[in-house]
Amino acid sequence: MVAFPKSELRAAAGGRCEPEGAESRETEAECGDAKEEKRGQTIVWRNVVLMALLHLAAVYALQLIPRAHPFTWIWSYVCFLITGLGITAGAHRLWSHRSYKAKFPLRMFLAAANSMAFQVYALFKGILGTHNVKYSHTFDASPLASNELYIWDNPLLFKLLYLCAVLFRYYKLSVVMMCFVVPTLVPWYFWDESIWNSYFLPGILRYTICLNCTWLVNSAAHIYGNRPYDKYINPRENCLVTFGAMGEGFHNFHHTFPFDYSASEFGLRLNPTTCFIDFMCLLGLASNRKKATPEMIKSRKLRTGDGSA
Ligand SMILES: [Zn+2]
Ligand SMILES: [Zn+2]
Repeated sequence: MVAFPKSELRAAAGGRCEPEGAESRETEAECGDAKEEKRGQTIVWRNVVLMALLHLAAVYALQLIPRAHPFTWIWSYVCFLITGLGITAGAHRLWSHRSYKAKFPLRMFLAAANSMAFQVYALFKGILGTHNVKYSHTFDASPLASNELYIWDNPLLFKLLYLCAVLFRYYKLSVVMMCFVVPTLVPWYFWDESIWNSYFLPGILRYTICLNCTWLVNSAAHIYGNRPYDKYINPRENCLVTFGAMGEGFHNFHHTFPFDYSASEFGLRLNPTTCFIDFMCLLGLASNRKKATPEMIKSRKLRTGDGSA
């Protein structure tokens, strides 16, 4: 189950990465990084302009905070939590890694939360399942680019993709509703907040912060921190990212044991997403949580860890 994949050793040495079957999928493919370097990087100017405008609006929103109703602050934070769960508990741990099972009402909630997050690449990775894809966790302006070979080789996935394209029409509508209309209407309707504050705080500012928290998982948590489970891969344990990304900063652990529903050795500690999944299990809405055993973790630490924990 936890055999150290040869593909990772080759990736660490800058060599070519080959699929290794189920064994290599146990650890999220660092060979993605090697492939990324070879493919080169293109600046997508449309995204640069859109992101610059979004961040300018978010900076403007900051000075609205003192003038807003305290309930609007609380609502903005609630929206932040729902958005985070849509990505962490939904697109990532449920749909990408199938690390637990969720019943229909919970899946509906997570789908709505995922629309609130408006992170299309996360949605596609969730639908396709990063476990089935070699190049996981690589941020790419075109989410399908890294997955295309796998898709064309797989008729079932091709049909799924077609279905997604049809559903995408409705996805756009659900994004407009969940990411902007609902967060804006609630403060305006329930406690007479101005429509301006309602749009910029729980809408624009919350969305921008959530985007940055997700990006930190793919950037900072691959650069800064220790590697107690596998020193041959880039992802690291990063406390700051853990705070911002609702428990997704135990990233060396996660890439070493991607099937683990908690994405961490430490269960509930600093891990709101794990708290949420456990609570859903208590309510009977989730089940079949997969977990790396203490023996697995210990032996892996001894074999490939950097000795930092
Ligand atoms: Zn990663
Ligand atoms: Zn993952």
